[in-house]
Amino acid sequence: PVDRSPEIQEARLKLPVLAEEQVIMEAVRENPCVVICGETGSGKTTQVPQFLYEAGYASGSGIIGITEPRRVAAVSMSHRVAKEMNLPTQVVSYQIRYEGNVTSDTKIKFMTDGVLLKEIQKDFLLQRYSVVIIDEAHERSVYTDILIGLLSRIVPLRDKKGMPMKLLIMSATLRVEDFTENLKLFRTPPPVIKVDARQFPVTIHFNKRTPLEDYTGEAFHKTCKIHRMLPPGGILVFLTGQAEVHSLCRRLRKAFPFRKGNTTTAEDEGADTSEAMRKFKKAKQKKTVSLPRIDLDNYSALPVDEGDEDREAGIGDEEDGGSDLDLGDDSADSEEKSDPSIPLYVLPLYSLLAPEQQAKVFRPPPTGTRLCVVATNVAETSLTIPGIKYVVDCGRVKKRFYDRVTGVSSFKVTWTSQASANQRAGRAGRTEPGHCYRLYSSAVFGDFSLFSEAEITRRPVEDLILQMKDLNIEKVVNFPFPTPPSAEALIAAEELLISLGALEEPPRTGRMNELQRAKLSCPITPLGRAMASFPVAPRYGKMLALGKQQDCLPYVIAVVAAMTVREIFEDLDRPAHSEDESSKLTQRRVRLTQTRRLWAGHGPSLLLGDLMVMLGAVGACEYAGCTRKFCENNGLRYKAMLEIRRLRGQLTNAVNAVCPEVGVFVDPKMTPPTEHQVVCLRQIVLAGLGDHLARRVQAEDMLDPKWKNGYKTPLMDDPVFIHPSSALFKTLPEFVVYQEIMETSKMYMRGVSAVEAE
Ligand code: ADP
Ligand code: MG
Repeated sequence: PVDRSPEIQEARLKLPVLAEEQVIMEAVRENPCVVICGETGSGKTTQVPQFLYEAGYASGSGIIGITEPRRVAAVSMSHRVAKEMNLPTQVVSYQIRYEGNVTSDTKIKFMTDGVLLKEIQKDFLLQRYSVVIIDEAHERSVYTDILIGLLSRIVPLRDKKGMPMKLLIMSATLRVEDFTENLKLFRTPPPVIKVDARQFPVTIHFNKRTPLEDYTGEAFHKTCKIHRMLPPGGILVFLTGQAEVHSLCRRLRKAFPFRKGNTTTAEDEGADTSEAMRKFKKAKQKKTVSLPRIDLDNYSALPVDEGDEDREAGIGDEEDGGSDLDLGDDSADSEEKSDPSIPLYVLPLYSLLAPEQQAKVFRPPPTGTRLCVVATNVAETSLTIPGIKYVVDCGRVKKRFYDRVTGVSSFKVTWTSQASANQRAGRAGRTEPGHCYRLYSSAVFGDFSLFSEAEITRRPVEDLILQMKDLNIEKVVNFPFPTPPSAEALIAAEELLISLGALEEPPRTGRMNELQRAKLSCPITPLGRAMASFPVAPRYGKMLALGKQQDCLPYVIAVVAAMTVREIFEDLDRPAHSEDESSKLTQRRVRLTQTRRLWAGHGPSLLLGDLMVMLGAVGACEYAGCTRKFCENNGLRYKAMLEIRRLRGQLTNAVNAVCPEVGVFVDPKMTPPTEHQVVCLRQIVLAGLGDHLARRVQAEDMLDPKWKNGYKTPLMDDPVFIHPSSALFKTLPEFVVYQEIMETSKMYMRGVSAVEAE
């Protein structure tokens, strides 16, 4: 029996999903797999696990597992459900990439989808679970899709073994045919239960004109207008990324500051209060600087895109620190009159925000203020913020794009889909009729695609293929993907994995078609298994697997950790907003370039190029105790450095698990590599990035003066370049390998290191 507080009970009764409890539970009893569709906010995520718990699905040895595509949701929902059920977090727990509070008493476990995928690798039948719920299936994240494919096989297998398991798929939209009408996936289509959400009407207001550039400015003006002129009710603004979110928060706080009843203290607002940080601070007080101990089982497979919208660093990215906290004493900005008589309670919301910060959006705003949440699309379906009456929608979303042929990737802000825009609008009508202000015209809306594509069709899949092969799924083409990746993408992935030595070479046969078919069913090698056990992409997994030679492992781990965390360096190319700022920026650029040159070293270590700079940065930062101050002074992104620190610990544990004899450990006072080790490191890097080779454009091939200092890659007609901020910008070695090609103002290689010509 669950003992809920009267307030909670009352709030639950208002949720539409509660009316369907019996229907849902009956369907679950009678079917191995059930699909539940219901508008965001109808109570799926918080209530369905409770129904199952109360029906006894966690009373035996099995537990209830729920996967979320976003870390935010896993953490925040586990806390909410624990609170609603009046149970401790030892019982209702969560597990995400780096942290969790799961115990042997856990009965309900929220986790990211990557975590469950990793568990399937250890126990294909998922015997710990009596029920698995795949939440937010409409998002069509790669891991969600793969999990549904795998579970469609696991469920009947469990049945055969006489220990049946239930599968629930939950979606915020009714578009579930890819799951229900895919006979490869479920031979008997699972029943679909629709939860009728009480949705109040939302009036849509389109802009007459569509701002092409400054939609953040437009969002600012619209929000100010709403706040000044319209009746009470929370405002939810949708922007595309963390930097935009912070910049708008700052402007709004300046425009409508509040002091009284101020619930935001500098501590809970700015300082990074993540668990690791707290522990770290404590450790520092005791004057013993040590890395947090990291649990070996505590990692997931490659959440490459998780939180991507927050990953691309931009201008002002670090300013969620202390600077926007001074809520009052800045009087007014010249154009933006400050008006403290109508305070606005402004909160940011995005995936990588610390959980304590995220939790704030659920609490009522201080009396006398209006709530305004500035969010990325995490607020679209993962989290329901109470009391929202007005939605301001920029109509855009930030996505990572990959060129299928060249592998070039870029972050682009693009129009969202009609389905997403309607989801966003719906956020305004949860508790009463609302309004949605679209910062674009109805004609533009008409041109949006109807739905967003499944992510799996948009990105390289070598990481997934390796994970699947490690699960002994040899014929990947036959896998029941809800939406299969293209044949080219599958072949490209297998070719890369074969070249990395993760898969066995296919037998040589005469005809092309046969060869391709053979390539699609190559078994995994022992090296491939080792690579699959590391929570990084296959190229980096290969580097780790080779790293034990010549005592290079600690360096390889540090470099790989740095390479897999995006944007560790402050962006020196950002534009300045005033002359004063411009001269300061120039000085900073000069100083930071010197620092980076120092990290790059000289002589042979310079040839390791950008990777040497990363290694130097990680070493120096750790030596200094990885403080915010050190990072600020040296042009490093503090959050990225914290993530690298956690990843180093995690990779160290993973390597020790694969080859215990090396006994590697994280040394906070790591000395720079010797000359000999640098040579080894370059070979190891080449082994992982061998297919990312580029050669300087030769004089006779110089077709265009713009090609000067360019590099030629096998797959592209036009050359690519070394970025001015690269350690090798002046050296211009004949051969280089690169981490990736990113298209910004030009095609630039990132993470460049020199290769010896033979
Ligand atoms: P769904 O999964 O169908 O979108 P949820 O179960 O997430 O719906 O949300 C149901 C209700 O619970 C919403 O009204 C939401 O505002 C509320 N809720 C969710 N998390 C919290 C929280 N941490 N604090 C207060 N209310 C919450
Ligand atoms: Mg939900």
